[in-house]
Amino acid sequence: MALFGKKKHDEDKHSEPDAITARRDAAMQNAQEVMNRGPAADELERAQQYWANKPAVPGAPDMSAMLERAKQMGGPGMAPTDAGAPGSPTWIDAVLHPQSDFMRQCTCDQCGGPKKLPSASAYIYCDYCSALVDYDLRVAIRSTDTITDRTAYAATFNGIGARSRDAKAAGDRQAYAGVRREFWDAWLTYTPSAASHRAGDPNYREAYINFMTAGNVVTDLDPSYQATEEQVKQAVMSLHRNGMMIEPDSLWPVLDAYIHQRELATGLLKAAGIPDQDPDHASEAVRQRISMSAMAQGWLTSLSPEAGEELLTRTGLQGEYKKIEPVADGVIRHCGKCGQEFASLPGAKTAICNSCGHQLDVGAAEWPCNGCGGLMTMPSGATETTCPYCKQLVSRAGR
Ligand SMILES: [Zn+2]
Ligand SMILES: [Zn+2]
Ligand SMILES: [Zn+2]
Repeated sequence: MALFGKKKHDEDKHSEPDAITARRDAAMQNAQEVMNRGPAADELERAQQYWANKPAVPGAPDMSAMLERAKQMGGPGMAPTDAGAPGSPTWIDAVLHPQSDFMRQCTCDQCGGPKKLPSASAYIYCDYCSALVDYDLRVAIRSTDTITDRTAYAATFNGIGARSRDAKAAGDRQAYAGVRREFWDAWLTYTPSAASHRAGDPNYREAYINFMTAGNVVTDLDPSYQATEEQVKQAVMSLHRNGMMIEPDSLWPVLDAYIHQRELATGLLKAAGIPDQDPDHASEAVRQRISMSAMAQGWLTSLSPEAGEELLTRTGLQGEYKKIEPVADGVIRHCGKCGQEFASLPGAKTAICNSCGHQLDVGAAEWPCNGCGGLMTMPSGATETTCPYCKQLVSRAGR
């Protein structure tokens, strides 16, 4: 998940020739890492702009050419280029079959409800109790965000990255928490399609930022966790590459190191009571899948279809997909926040609105507005709401 803010370099901090060489080396390593996990369009474009203005150094690799090649490979957030080439969306489709009128087959581990209704994002919520039941890698890979203000975007994440490193190096928990809050806030702002559609609800958004921040402080400042970060980094540096592709045999040690890191994180988070703060009430298995998906998304673009399949199998991400069918027993309701129609299933208690992300009380009957007579499903836990049609206050008590 943490695709941004971790690998930015300090600009204008050094000017002596040795430092320039060191920075070039660091930038090359960053570029390699970006390529390994699959390039994101905005990162490549920023890197290209940066290197386009640098004079060529004899004997040094041509960064612009390397980045252009990476761009041709395609990847998450990039337009299809060469259909069927490794890393292209078409190739991803081949590995992650079937197509978009299918959905991931899953059952809620909290209430046992089967998932029937399509989801608005990669986050799949239970139709009956609105717990987070699964995460769909296919949807995540298809999601793209258009960063409209690239300068502000780069400035934001560069600043966060630098302060994050400083706070971490100083072991300053309070400062680190502050900068991680900023990170998650910016992440939700700039790349909303990577997040849950529930982030449209300000209360969820706040709870999510708190939850992620609390988790980061527990893991990232822990010495044993930092040791696993080093192990992952070492394994990444030992990857064997064949052009832009990764030799699968050198990837599995990275995967093992990453799984080990996740196991350690799970224990640390549990001991600190962090899962209780999860606004999605997700099980550990689902959290694990989200984390694995974030990692797999990066590698898939640099693997052959066969190796890609194996990665999905080893990470438990392959999953079963079923065709999205009209739901026969669905009842049409109306969101008390945004007014959108949605289907609700008999026996359901709460549901997430696919349009605005608010949790709705589908266990109760729809409520009429005194002003316009419009019917609506009240938001969960709310005694009143503003009528989405006529803006009049609608109260459960005032009928
Ligand atoms: Zn459920
Ligand atoms: Zn809504
Ligand atoms: Zn009304």
